[in-house]
Amino acid sequence: MSDHLRPVPGQRRLNWYLTLPKVAVGLLLVLLVALLWLLREHEVEEQRSTLIADVLWLEQNFRFHLDGNAEQMKQLALDLSAEHDGRATFLTRARHLLKISPELAQIVWFDARGKLRGALPTPVPARLADGSPGDPDGNPAAERGFELASKLGKPVYTDPFSTSQGAQFALYVPVFHGLELRGMLIAAYSLNDLLQQLVPWWFAEKYRVSVLDDNGAVLLRKSKVDAGFLSLSHEVLLEPPGRGLVLQATAYHGAGNPVQTLITVVIVSLAAAVMWSLWAIRGLIRRRLDAERALRSEHAFRKAMEDSLTVGMRARDPGGRITYVNPAFCRMVGLSPVELIGQTPPMTYWAPEEMEKTVALHDAVMEGKAPPGGFELRFMRKDGSRFDALVYEAPLIDADGQHTGWMGSVRDVTERKHTAELARQQFEKLQFTSRLVTMGEMASTLAHELNQPLAAIASYNTGCLNKLDSGDYTREELSGALTKLGVQAQRAGHIIRRVHDFVRKSEPKRAPCDLAEVIDDSIGFLGSAAKARNIPIVREIQGMCPKLMADQVMLEQVLVNLMRNAIDAMENIAPERRRLTIKLGRLENQMEIRVVDRGPGISPTVQEKLFTPFFSTKPDGMGMGLNICRSIIEFHHGRLWTEANPEGGSIFVITLPVDP
Ligand code: ADP
Repeated sequence: MSDHLRPVPGQRRLNWYLTLPKVAVGLLLVLLVALLWLLREHEVEEQRSTLIADVLWLEQNFRFHLDGNAEQMKQLALDLSAEHDGRATFLTRARHLLKISPELAQIVWFDARGKLRGALPTPVPARLADGSPGDPDGNPAAERGFELASKLGKPVYTDPFSTSQGAQFALYVPVFHGLELRGMLIAAYSLNDLLQQLVPWWFAEKYRVSVLDDNGAVLLRKSKVDAGFLSLSHEVLLEPPGRGLVLQATAYHGAGNPVQTLITVVIVSLAAAVMWSLWAIRGLIRRRLDAERALRSEHAFRKAMEDSLTVGMRARDPGGRITYVNPAFCRMVGLSPVELIGQTPPMTYWAPEEMEKTVALHDAVMEGKAPPGGFELRFMRKDGSRFDALVYEAPLIDADGQHTGWMGSVRDVTERKHTAELARQQFEKLQFTSRLVTMGEMASTLAHELNQPLAAIASYNTGCLNKLDSGDYTREELSGALTKLGVQAQRAGHIIRRVHDFVRKSEPKRAPCDLAEVIDDSIGFLGSAAKARNIPIVREIQGMCPKLMADQVMLEQVLVNLMRNAIDAMENIAPERRRLTIKLGRLENQMEIRVVDRGPGISPTVQEKLFTPFFSTKPDGMGMGLNICRSIIEFHHGRLWTEANPEGGSIFVITLPVDP
């Protein structure tokens, strides 16, 4: 099997081949998604660490700031305890403190009895001041702060509380002189201001900062960006001021990394494209597979056909080189395909004795002038034996319409020729026998015909002898009688020669032949037989008759047969009606002979079997006459048939081509 027809993988194997890349692409996709997910996780983790660090930093910042303020308040308390009045010191220092710490809502100074000694920035203390010790609707947070600070003797932060200016908490710093409590300094922080002051802009842009109480309720929130949803968040206790305050920062979820998103989209699209192309390729491969399968079965079919052929096939390229041989041809010439393919003229199977003819025919084929009806050649087998081959050549045209050489079919016709030869010989024998039979039948009439010249010769001879005996003769008389005797002898000789010619066994021989002569000879044979039966023979020959290439004796045989049948047919007809007419005429390129009788004609049942061998209505008839006549006429490429005679009787018509 040639390379391009190697078996292709089956459907299951193909499915495997196609599934493998699909699985690989699928896995690749999963891995890519996993990778992207890991990257994202890593990013979130990093974001979380940053968030924690940022929140811790903020918380530290808060504490640092508050600690700083607490330190200043403690210093002020210390200074105030040492002074008698201290109002001026309070105002100066408190003003300074408020200035550097804008988150401070108010700084208030009470003496030990709860009497207000000073307050900034407003002289009248706000809600906190109202809730100072001694105030009937005291702020419980403030009260607790006051109490704790005076008892512990150190600064104390209060729980957050709400005021008309928002959530606040306060720092209580006791003013001791020795062990004696002399007063209380209170710094109230506004949570809102604290956030505004201490949370830097960049922090607010990254996170939403909230302050929650110990119940988780939001006391305050600072956020710079409204849109977007929130993702990570982190909380730390705000200590100090402590008291359950929680600082929470929640990261804004940004729009994400556009490059990353783009890469993801591209990867997914590429994977989809690969999947799609695999799917398309699958269709393509399937179609190709189907086509190959069809091609293989076609090839198998063709091969089976080739192998079963009894006709030899061989192809040659335009240069005459053999490109293909089928098994039948190899069997014919006894050579293997390897020995044959690639051979160039002269081929090893060409018979040397016919080399010239073979080469001439080969050249004609190569020039595209092969005889369309095929030609016969003698080929030689490997063992040297010969066989007759009938060869037909046809041009080889490829798929592009290009002429690529010649394909020849070769048939071994030795047997056929032998059979044909046997048949021919048999036919010849048969028609010869038939001629002998005819002649045998005509023997008596011929003998009678021969009798006439012989009798005339005898009487001329007697006359001459008598004259010689009497001595009364002239030289002229004798010579005249002897001349007539000679004519009669010639006539007898002619009859003998005609009979001899007719029964002479010879192969059919075509030679220029005059049909008028054929007719005259035939009439010569049957003239006396016809006369004996009172049948006049009319001979109608019209115009110039060209000579035909034909076997004269065979044509005479036909005519004698037809005329004898006509004479036989008119045996029982009224004598005055009897007439046998032979007409010769020309129709375009053929000659026509009509044998017309006035017999009873041919009935349809007889007509059916007229030319069938051994059909006869005569008691002593052989029934081969007409069959042989037709064979002879067909041998000369002519036709023989019957027609009804309008005057009654039948007409046998022969046509013969002038140039067969
Ligand atoms: P045979 O003469 O030996 O019978 P043929 O083959 O010559 O064989 O003729 C076959 C038959 O055809 C004859 O027996 C006869 O019946 C019929 N036939 C032939 N010629 C004529 C004719 N001219 N008229 C009538 N019948 C004919």
